[in-house]
Amino acid sequence: MTATAKKDPKNNEDNEQMNFSADVSRLLNIVANALYTNHDVFLRELISNSADACDRLRYDAIQKPDLTADNANFRIHIYKDTDTRTLTITDNGIGMGKAELIDHLGTIAKSGTAALMDKMSKAGKGEDPLKLIGQFGVGFYASYMVADYVTVTSRKAGSKAIWTWESDGASGFNVRKATTEEETKLDGDRGTAVTLNIKDEGCDFLLDEKIKQTVETYSDHIDVKIFLGTPAETDSGEGQPINKAQAIWTRSKQDVTPEQYDEFYKHITHGFDEPLLTSHWRAEGKIEFNALLFVPTMRPWDLYDPSRQASMRLYVRRVFISDNVEGLTYPWLRFVRGVVDSEDLPLNISRESLQYNPIIAKIRTSTTKRILSDLDKLSRDDWPGFITFWGQFGAALKEGLYDAIEHRDAIFKICRFYSTHEEGEKFVSLEQYIERMDEDQKDIYYISGENLESLKNSPQIEGFKAKGIEVMFFTDTIDDFWLQNATEYKGKTFKSVTKGDIDLGNKKDEKETAKEAEEHKDLLENLQKLLDEDVSEVRISSRLTDSPVCLVAPDGGVDMHMERVLKIHQKYAGDSKPVLEINMGHGLIQKLETLKPKSDAFKDAASLLFDQAKIIQGEPVKDPAGFARRMASFMEKGL
Ligand code: ADP
Ligand code: MG
Repeated sequence: MTATAKKDPKNNEDNEQMNFSADVSRLLNIVANALYTNHDVFLRELISNSADACDRLRYDAIQKPDLTADNANFRIHIYKDTDTRTLTITDNGIGMGKAELIDHLGTIAKSGTAALMDKMSKAGKGEDPLKLIGQFGVGFYASYMVADYVTVTSRKAGSKAIWTWESDGASGFNVRKATTEEETKLDGDRGTAVTLNIKDEGCDFLLDEKIKQTVETYSDHIDVKIFLGTPAETDSGEGQPINKAQAIWTRSKQDVTPEQYDEFYKHITHGFDEPLLTSHWRAEGKIEFNALLFVPTMRPWDLYDPSRQASMRLYVRRVFISDNVEGLTYPWLRFVRGVVDSEDLPLNISRESLQYNPIIAKIRTSTTKRILSDLDKLSRDDWPGFITFWGQFGAALKEGLYDAIEHRDAIFKICRFYSTHEEGEKFVSLEQYIERMDEDQKDIYYISGENLESLKNSPQIEGFKAKGIEVMFFTDTIDDFWLQNATEYKGKTFKSVTKGDIDLGNKKDEKETAKEAEEHKDLLENLQKLLDEDVSEVRISSRLTDSPVCLVAPDGGVDMHMERVLKIHQKYAGDSKPVLEINMGHGLIQKLETLKPKSDAFKDAASLLFDQAKIIQGEPVKDPAGFARRMASFMEKGL
């Protein structure tokens, strides 16, 4: 979306009235109308923009040192003027030219904006729109929480022109040549000055104490010095920085408080949540880096948006390089936020070549191991926390089971599933499953499907329950995908209970099975004949105890639920016929055997049994009208 020029006859190149793009207008509307109690956020956002601007110039100046020739010390100033009721934030960062003022402050460049707005307008049922904005970062527009008018004067490093952007945050904005008075607000020959006309809601920000306290709370870790007062005051020797100005990840763990970690987390995520897991360490040895990584508590709204970018920031020896380095982390860890600061990469590396750099791959391996082992630890030390994590991110993490074989075992260690072992909805691990296995059990049994309740009532698991053999419930769509590649764990194969002939250790040998089949040969054959179009085989079940029939996939076939999922995702075109298993211990089947196979009753019963098996499976019946008719006729007889 773009900002557009207003149809104003006075418009000219040096002074343009513009309309905000539609998404900015909507965002401003939300910000202005939000009953917002936490106004402090605006200062955090403006300081963060200033710090970003310094980071960007620091990077560019590696190639072109001239850009910072006037003053290589990056700094931010905040000062108030109680007479005019204004608050000004200046930085000597990279600055903006005219086009940038229009683009960056008149539109929202981020991908997924439309989706977010959509979500926000639908928020209400337990979802706080501000939380959504928070995840997205209202950014610069947060100024309008406390200001009714904002003026931004900026000079791009290396350029002479100075432009001013101004707006009441409602009717659009104006971009024009800066006045001489505005020019003096800049700190040296570059950078930006943002001046807010404070409205009543924000008047406490006209107090030095309040400003100081807010900076200490939110921006202590910003590694650019922040001064209270004007640049001129600092140059004349007054004023001390009010923040520590030391990159938090370079400090040692003992020196950082949990609150400081939280602030930093909020700074990089714009988040309203707290980190669930904080991993801070220094890697030494073949490669050296500092890492400070977080697992959020809340799933970001765009976790499954394919255009979502990775969210680790890369620094090289304290210089910010990029927050979008492909290969720095795995797609299935895209929820991990934080900073990696490398000691090994060259500073003048081009951002584009980074993804092919072997050091990046090594960092990825090392951070992944660390995160996985910390999550494993979390599962032992903080079960409620771990369960929150699993609910929010488990499905994403499981993508790694087919994406990164080298980490597969570590991911499996973290995975939790529902199972027949735990009544209620507790999660079990594969380790626990294996521990409980009987010595002669070779496989890990599972059944997959979206709905836990119907899985619990599946006829296919009856025999397992009766024998006390644990079956895992795989309830995420992703499960059917990883199961195609990750076929075993610790030498135990994953085996679907809805597929193939299963030996439940009934101690029936082949001879006995054959004998039983022989005894009921006619019944099996007659059913087969009637249902030939729909089933590949009718056989006597060893997995049923209570239900008369069930469907399973043939021995060499694809698990039935998997087949359905794959078809939905167009990854599978096959159409295999299932096997119908019948329970010879069931009265209904025994009765059926006594009927004349040519009779209508036998035909109708066969057809009803098959349809019933399909319904339990969650699949539609082929001929609903016929099904209803047969059903009604049976009911009539029964009543
Ligand atoms: P974000 O920081 O998440 O990109 P913002 O709304 O905070 O979103 O800012 C929008 C853009 O405006 C920034 O990406 C940046 O390009 C530009 N910008 C804002 N403040 C400054 C500043 N002080 N110096 C340079 N550019 C800035
Ligand atoms: Mg910002």
